[in-house]
Amino acid sequence: MSRISKLVRPNIAALAPYSTARDEYGGPIGIFLDANESPYENGYNRYPHPSQQAEIKARISKIKGVPAANIFLGNGSDEAIDLVYRIFCEPSKDNAVIIAPSYGMYSVAAAINNIEVRPVMLDEEFQLSTEALLNACDDSTKLIFLCSPNNPSGNAFPAGQLLDICDRFHGITVVDEAYVDFSSKGSLAGEAVKRDNLIVLQTLSKARAMAGLRVGMAISNEEIIRLMSMVKYPYNLSRAAMEKALEFLDNAIDANVGVIVKERERLSAKLPSFPFVRKVFHSDANFLLVQVDDADSLYSYLLDKGIIVRNRSRVRGCNGCIRITVGLPEENDALITALNNYDRV
Ligand SMILES: *Cc1c(COP(=O)(O)O)cnc(C)c1O
Repeated sequence: MSRISKLVRPNIAALAPYSTARDEYGGPIGIFLDANESPYENGYNRYPHPSQQAEIKARISKIKGVPAANIFLGNGSDEAIDLVYRIFCEPSKDNAVIIAPSYGMYSVAAAINNIEVRPVMLDEEFQLSTEALLNACDDSTKLIFLCSPNNPSGNAFPAGQLLDICDRFHGITVVDEAYVDFSSKGSLAGEAVKRDNLIVLQTLSKARAMAGLRVGMAISNEEIIRLMSMVKYPYNLSRAAMEKALEFLDNAIDANVGVIVKERERLSAKLPSFPFVRKVFHSDANFLLVQVDDADSLYSYLLDKGIIVRNRSRVRGCNGCIRITVGLPEENDALITALNNYDRV
């Protein structure tokens, strides 16, 4: 028995997936009287065709250098997070170990599915203790969620450390790489294809500028990808989203990512010069976590100037911190100007 079949919930292993009209007959032309759609053509009267996802996977396969059979497409990577819980964790019995502070959806999706999460705090510099993480696991721990670069701290963990955790953990390790395009530390996507217990999450929402389309992905071995495809809603991505995604995937992102990384470095060099800034944490992403004297006051002041940042000061491990997304150069200039004036209030 493979490790995956031992970890998967028995009801999922036994699942007969819904077979759509378009799965049963996928031909492009004909008189379609099989899916109870409206016959009045408007471009969207038909359910999405499976070939649309196949086309996007083929395109992503080229970009990421992983086979299309190792890619799952979701309605945002948030869908992939939810599916991983539903495939591997028995409600009110199994648990998942996560790092803290990190992305909120790991806990929310767990709570919705009635799965216990065990947060393991990162240290003051947001570094991760492999031993603390593994010590939090027991026989009922099916998943470890890691986020690298991590949201909200911004730092990426060393690839060697992430793979060591994956090697030593008996369950499935999920590494969320939503911000990987802004990092020089590289992706584990190639490793996820080769291993039986690693899932890498990526998204079109951040560097690829498609947050509004809701397209995310999981990259893993073919067995896990098959399970995810079986459990997802039959038509999880809309025709409209897939058309746009395919079009936008042709846009090169290197120049824009280059500007954002340069601006990130400019902001992280500039921000410490303000007397109310205590610390700017190292970032491998498109945002900076900044510890200030009075986060609530600075947040309200910026809001008043029409600049919206994220107040993270009530998140455990983020005392006094705000998270600032790196914007266009002129937007970052406006932020700096506002901060110059805050100094004087
Ligand atoms: C923004 C973000 C995502 C993206 O989620 P989508 O559902 O794909 O938009 C995933 N993980 C982390 C850590 C994020 O910050």
